[in-house]
Amino acid sequence: MALMITDECINCDVCEPECPNLAISLGVEFYEIDPERCTECVGHFDEPQCVQVCPVSCIPVNPQRVEDKESLWAKYRRLQAATAASSSAG
Ligand code: SF4
Ligand code: SF4
Repeated sequence: MALMITDECINCDVCEPECPNLAISLGVEFYEIDPERCTECVGHFDEPQCVQVCPVSCIPVNPQRVEDKESLWAKYRRLQAATAASSSAG
């Protein structure tokens, strides 16, 4: 599953630099997670890094984006391939 940020977010900016997939950005009112880029940190860390650092625990799983571990690994590999392609196209 991708994770999501709820309106309890206090825009503290702490999670954004922790995301290995660059999935977190400031939205209109508070921070958002791009579900196309969030792998729950699969491929990078054992635990979701944003959840570890969030001081108000406002990052639950996104019920609209139910994905099993296999799908998260596939997403991770897609992101890695896209990154490699864009850096070699340079
Ligand atoms: S769980 Fe990991 S990949 Fe997903 S938004 Fe949080 S830090 Fe980024
Ligand atoms: S760490 Fe939590 S409160 Fe801070 S910006 Fe991220 S989601 Fe919002």
